[in-house]
Amino acid sequence: MTLIEALTSRLPEDCVQFDDDVVEAYSHDRAIFEGHGTASVLVMPRTTEQVVAAVEAAIEADVPIVPRGAGTGLTGAANATDGCMVLSLHRMNNILEIDETNRTCRVQPGVINSDLKAAVAERGLFYPPDPASFEMSSIGGNVATNAGGLCCVKYGVTRDYVMGLTVVMANGEVMRTGRKTIKSTTGFDLTGIFVGSEGALGIITEITLKLVTAPPPPATAVAYFGELEPAGNAIVEIFRQGHEPSLMEIVDQASLRQVEAVFPMDLDVDAACLLLMQTAGESAPERIAAISKICEDHGASFVYHVDDPHEGDMLIEVRRKVWPAFEHLGKALLPEDVAVPRQHLPELLAGITEIAKRHDVQLPTIGHAGDGNMHPLLVFDGNDPHETARAKAAFEDIISLALRLDGTIAGEHGVGTLKKAYVERELDPVQLSVQRSLRTLFDPDGRLNPGKAL
Ligand SMILES: Cc1cc2nc3c(=O)[nH]c(=O)nc-3n(C[C@H](O)[C@H](O)[C@H](O)COP(=O)(O)OP(=O)(O)OC[C@H]3O[C@@H](n4cnc5c(N)ncnc54)[C@H](O)[C@@H]3O)c2cc1C
Repeated sequence: MTLIEALTSRLPEDCVQFDDDVVEAYSHDRAIFEGHGTASVLVMPRTTEQVVAAVEAAIEADVPIVPRGAGTGLTGAANATDGCMVLSLHRMNNILEIDETNRTCRVQPGVINSDLKAAVAERGLFYPPDPASFEMSSIGGNVATNAGGLCCVKYGVTRDYVMGLTVVMANGEVMRTGRKTIKSTTGFDLTGIFVGSEGALGIITEITLKLVTAPPPPATAVAYFGELEPAGNAIVEIFRQGHEPSLMEIVDQASLRQVEAVFPMDLDVDAACLLLMQTAGESAPERIAAISKICEDHGASFVYHVDDPHEGDMLIEVRRKVWPAFEHLGKALLPEDVAVPRQHLPELLAGITEIAKRHDVQLPTIGHAGDGNMHPLLVFDGNDPHETARAKAAFEDIISLALRLDGTIAGEHGVGTLKKAYVERELDPVQLSVQRSLRTLFDPDGRLNPGKAL
């Protein structure tokens, strides 16, 4: 049976799209340089049963399946392979239940992160994971990449909130994992294995998430430093003294200058970097004052802190403007995503500066400084082969640097195709072999998102 017959005999007409232009639009994420193949068809189910039907059709026609959320990934993880079925979960976007008593919710995978945040906030609850893409990325994609974000330094990453899943397996069977209860000790943790699995183990069609009570508005501080190293040391000291900031971001000089050039806001463009920090909870104002004092003691050239949440939001705005400010240059932007244990942050920052000089590349750096997760941003002329080669060499050197510092090659964006070649450098051979065996166990025919992640 052909793929068209297999699909149209099982699914309503409007779930299946063969138009080349439409299929192409759904065939890649936002990673630059990661090529993608030509998909055969786009399938847009509304229910778990329709996902099962799509998987059965793919089995019958023997084509690979590439699951897709909102396509905001930065690693090529949702990119089509030749002849595949792109299975977009974006229409499965209902919030099925918000359980205030147990502080949980049940959602379909296509729900946009910010829509969930808004819905639970109406009940005085909070869903913390907040990738910078939270207004466009889907919860299913967040789960499949184990997305991080700005407030993860205090609240943890997506993994810390996933309690249970409904998954359509590669053979079309439906599996329910996890629990509704706060506690359970029954069986192995099959929920966890799907978090960060990049569509390679199964298709997630329903998610039960943990929620927390909404914290009071945060207090905010900004601190400029004349050099990067003391800023790194101040961060280490803040945690050593037991503070738990709910946000701690760093913006380096090149980023400050570009933001100021495009969105003038009176930034100190001579500073080496700006630290942006927030504290949440009852003693937030006292905590932010103590954190500010640590920054002063470490030689910050200017420190300012506020309790007013609106003023705080305005101070944090500079972080959100960095990416759009660099987009104004019209050049290629390749974001790195490495993370190191906090105490190695000063060495990571110094190393990134050295790599930029050695390869003569533009390498502004921003990142989630509080959890050691940095996003050096390679800015280059993608049409100039020499500049591109230098940028790629710098990209590899940053990965090597992170690994030397006991870090990881992929802090929060996932592996996709972008980082696949480096996985063997991080995972030891035994673990790699177990992981590959698990993938084969879940998907013996290699049908799900082939060529990605491992
Ligand atoms: C401007 C910008 C800022 C960003 N900031 C951050 C950030 O701060 N933190 C961060 O972590 N990421 C960030 N990202 C990256 C991206 O938004 C995240 O990786 C996000 O989680 C991807 O979600 P998505 O819905 O777009 O998934 P997609 O890109 O569509 O897919 C991502 C992966 O998930 C798989 N997948 C999607 N849905 C399912 C499903 N239902 N079942 C099984 N597999 C599935 C896909 O096959 C693919 O492997 C940013 C991206 C952009 C463009």
